[in-house]
Amino acid sequence: MVDTRTQLLGVIGDPIEHSLSPLLHNYILNRLNLNFCYHAFQVKTKNLERSLDAFQLMGLKGINVTIPHKEAVFQRMHHVSKVAKQIQAVNTVLFRDGQRWGFNTDGTGFTRSLGEFVKRLPGAKVLVLGAGGSAKAVISALIRQKAGEIGLFNRTCSKAELLCSHFQEVTGYQNIYPRRFDSQILADEISESALIVNTTPVGMYPQTQASPIDAQITFPEKILAYDLIYNPQQTQFLHIAEQAGALTFNGLDMLIYQGVAALEIWLEQKIDITPFFIDLRSFLRRQLKSI
Ligand code: NAP
Repeated sequence: MVDTRTQLLGVIGDPIEHSLSPLLHNYILNRLNLNFCYHAFQVKTKNLERSLDAFQLMGLKGINVTIPHKEAVFQRMHHVSKVAKQIQAVNTVLFRDGQRWGFNTDGTGFTRSLGEFVKRLPGAKVLVLGAGGSAKAVISALIRQKAGEIGLFNRTCSKAELLCSHFQEVTGYQNIYPRRFDSQILADEISESALIVNTTPVGMYPQTQASPIDAQITFPEKILAYDLIYNPQQTQFLHIAEQAGALTFNGLDMLIYQGVAALEIWLEQKIDITPFFIDLRSFLRRQLKSI
């Protein structure tokens, strides 16, 4: 129930009407009996600065940031975390002591969503498809987890080259290299990999028949195929991978855990969703089906 002590949280983006974040956060806040309410705000780029000021003035604890504002918000912070600095993008803002503190929890969400598989990352070879905003968060997480090498495939190879150089420079990690998005090169590289992550939007609703990889590709045993897309829940990429015997994960758990990590920043406490994680996931799946 909303009362005079209820504190406001939210997400900004444009468009924002398809965001799952209000459902996700309000579900967790309700289950934990926390007197907060999470709201979606459509913010136009031209109003970004004034909106941040307004949120601060109204006493919001913090906000999430989604497309297209993650990079622009990064530029408008008083302080940014090491990870947000590496990624040059902010998805979580904390308003504290009259200052704006910027974080990026997408990489943490990705890592936590891997569960036990995370133990296989140190020294492992990983392929990342796509070199956009979410790829940066995934790469930053993979480097933190000490992946052995990272092959970065992107349609625009120059963008992959730039991203590899960026991470080599800011993290000192040298085992990341760009690759042309070519079926034969991918087929060669995948044979030695433990994990392949699709960070492109290829296959996302409504283009659900599209896939970033060929249906004929052979997957090595025990590889995990991970798609950041969660709508549909099984993309064509995951379907191909599953048919070929790979373990598959979609992006829903990453979404959940990046949200949990944001809540932990705002509330400055650990949030344990284990007791209701299955219920939460089913709830979000049902909402996705009705979109
Ligand atoms: P982005 O910054 O726009 O990057 C998209 C990347 O995909 C670019 O590298 C682009 O290549 C590539 N790409 C786009 N269309 C392509 C096509 N038709 N064929 C081959 N490559 C293509 O997007 P993003 O923010 O990283 O988001 C990517 C996906 O991740 C979206 O589906 C988003 O919903 C999902 N996501 C999920 C979560 C989660 O929590 N699960 C979090 C963030 C994002 P070029 O450089 O050649 O243009």
